[in-house]
Amino acid sequence: MTTTREAIREPERTTPVFGEFDVVVLGGGPAGIAAAVAAAQNAARVLLIERYGFLGGMGTAAGVTNFCGLHANVFGEIQQVVHGVADQLLERMRALDGLNEPHLILGKIWAQAYDMSALKCAADQLLLASRAQILFHALAVGVTRRDDGALESLLVETKSGRLAVRASVFIDCSGDGDLMHRAGLPMEKGDDEGHLLYPTLMFRVGNVDAKRAGEAWHSIPALMDEAEARGEFRFPRRGAIVRPQRHAYEWRVNVTQLKNQDGSATDGTIAESLSAGELEGRRQIVDYLRFLRARVPGFEAAYALDIAPQLGIRETRRLIGEAVLSGEDVLACADFEDAIGVNGWPLEKHVAGDVKWFWPDIPGSRGFNQLPYGMLVPRQAHSNGIDNVLAAGRCASMTHDGHAAARVSGACFVMGQAAGTAAALALKNSCSPRSLAVDQLQRVLIDQGAYLGR
Ligand SMILES: Cc1cc2nc3c(=O)[nH]c(=O)nc-3n(C[C@H](O)[C@H](O)[C@H](O)COP(=O)(O)OP(=O)(O)OC[C@H]3O[C@@H](n4cnc5c(N)ncnc54)[C@H](O)[C@@H]3O)c2cc1C
Repeated sequence: MTTTREAIREPERTTPVFGEFDVVVLGGGPAGIAAAVAAAQNAARVLLIERYGFLGGMGTAAGVTNFCGLHANVFGEIQQVVHGVADQLLERMRALDGLNEPHLILGKIWAQAYDMSALKCAADQLLLASRAQILFHALAVGVTRRDDGALESLLVETKSGRLAVRASVFIDCSGDGDLMHRAGLPMEKGDDEGHLLYPTLMFRVGNVDAKRAGEAWHSIPALMDEAEARGEFRFPRRGAIVRPQRHAYEWRVNVTQLKNQDGSATDGTIAESLSAGELEGRRQIVDYLRFLRARVPGFEAAYALDIAPQLGIRETRRLIGEAVLSGEDVLACADFEDAIGVNGWPLEKHVAGDVKWFWPDIPGSRGFNQLPYGMLVPRQAHSNGIDNVLAAGRCASMTHDGHAAARVSGACFVMGQAAGTAAALALKNSCSPRSLAVDQLQRVLIDQGAYLGR
């Protein structure tokens, strides 16, 4: 796929300043929601910037509709290990009747499905109650720097034109690291050979006969094998995830897999790759719906209730941070001095044609690793003189394998809460986020309900 092109020179322009804030958070996914709420609840003036007209990130925009990583299997007993801002959001979702009871995944851990509209509305309520401001429909496209090298403003394109937003601290929760990339911070992508986890275009089906469908998630893989053996269908990947939502006539379907012509994963940072992926995703959905209706009891009259507004992107750019969470850290349930919370999700690797799982020792271990503050902080040697930026969520500092685990919502809430709290404390202490005393951050996180795994 070509990325080199002729170029044109744009005229210089003057950009109006939208406002000046203590903390600007880019992106309203799990990490951005938690970061904005935590910073605002710690008395910072906060603006959250989001390109869509609603919050939730991949959870809503990509139709994920399921929280992983809120729980861990602790010596055989499944417990919720992510709290703090996540609890505030869950409480509001429960009040909207938008949460399923947690369900068992591969006999080892729980995930918790939810209603997409409940997440959107609960996140609005939580942000507004925290007094964080939101600017929807604003796409971040660039940055300006101060004379001392720090970031001065984030440039956004909106319906009312290009605007600049000034802040003392910026938190990149864009998932793709757009802010850090625009600021010129070096970033990593994929494994040692640049292979990314494969994306999925999610959809939900309605009108499922729940009684007849029963626990169809157990039988669907065998039905797919049969249909493929008979030459009736060809599926893009194994490891289909087809599960009921809050109302049992509605199921979410996580089965597509998107690749470029050369077989590599669709790349969420390359415009043509994304565009082709959307088309291919919808083609696969039409095909899979045909399979569900023809072969799966209870799905005979099912229809595509909703195709997610955008491709579900699992992995793109990652920060190179002071600490780098690795797959070994996850499997060995590692501890860190500068722990800000925990991750209890295993490595879930969406590789070509399949989904591979790698677990810590279950039930022989405590089933979670700590997450270090250093994974949110740009490594000084790579920071390009910028000391007022943090990253949280799937663009934080991890190896490809560490990311395969800590990219899920639970760990993103943890990172977001820590980044927002750290930004607010750094401002109170008149220091950079990098030089913040971690024990102070840890005390405040614990006081505000976070579990650090100790
Ligand atoms: C298909 C799929 C299935 C998954 N299944 C699960 C699951 O079952 N459970 C689970 O917990 N996790 C799941 N995940 C992973 C999880 O959803 C994501 O990793 C998680 O949402 C990441 O959170 P985040 O806040 O870091 O980023 P995101 O959720 O990606 O949010 C980033 C936000 O930033 C916004 N943004 C990005 N760039 C810009 C810009 N330039 N300007 C303005 N706004 C911008 C986006 O619109 C988005 O709202 C899945 C992921 C995929 C793709």
